[in-house]
Amino acid sequence: MEVNIPSCSEEAKWPCRRDIVSEIVDKEIKKMARKKIIAGNWKMNKTPSEAVALVEELKPLVANEEVDVVFCVPAIDIVPVVEACKGTNIQVGAENMYFEESGAYTGEISPAMLVDAGVKYVVLGHSERRDYFGETNEDVNKKVLKAFEHGITPIMCCGETLEQREQGVTMDFIRQQVKVGLQNVTADQAKAMVIAYEPIWAIGTGKTATTEQAEEVCKGIRECVAEVYDEATAEAIRIQYGGSVNAGNAAELFAQADIDGGLVGGASLKADFGKIVNYK
Ligand code: PEP
Repeated sequence: MEVNIPSCSEEAKWPCRRDIVSEIVDKEIKKMARKKIIAGNWKMNKTPSEAVALVEELKPLVANEEVDVVFCVPAIDIVPVVEACKGTNIQVGAENMYFEESGAYTGEISPAMLVDAGVKYVVLGHSERRDYFGETNEDVNKKVLKAFEHGITPIMCCGETLEQREQGVTMDFIRQQVKVGLQNVTADQAKAMVIAYEPIWAIGTGKTATTEQAEEVCKGIRECVAEVYDEATAEAIRIQYGGSVNAGNAAELFAQADIDGGLVGGASLKADFGKIVNYK
């Protein structure tokens, strides 16, 4: 009779497998601890009356207490949108903010103005602001710090161009954006903030990053946060993916271990946003 005795090397695999299983379980638990955040970026769309009409249309569709739902709207829409969102699960965000308290900065919006109007989040360093309005990593960092001073949660954007991706420098570029953006931000503040990874080539183009590409960079951002701070901070910070998110791809993207929701442009202006919020 032949007895199949496991070899030493096979036995040695067991503790290793146990390690892998516990690592997976650990990751799942940490992921579950982070509440998903799904934010709409309305960009330069909707007049105040159109904005209120859109909120009325979306309100019942985005009712989901399991995720944080944020409407980031143009400055002029903030007051009526905050009013229209009262009594709902929707929080209102701004799309930008200046880093000074007040004064001779014609056309800018101060953090105190946002707070007084009821704003809870602010999108900072969106690629459109970096590209068309010359915002630098240093500007973004000043804005992040100022937002925290006023109790506003920053959604700090980062992302590479197609050229950078093709040159293989995606992670170097993003690590620089993240590290400068986080300068002088404390670990407790970092734990509470949101980073949005938005590959520029995927914004408004209908070209979504593959789930693998999106997860790879979000994971890389989390590793970068761990290097700047520690594991606990990296596990707490929420990292969104943005770039042509829609009702069809949201579930797969948001199921990734390091993707904690999305920053959604075009699809946040339609009933589809309800499907994205209720992606499960
Ligand atoms: C955005 O505006 O941040 C964005 C991701 O846009 P879209 O979803 O339209 O690509």
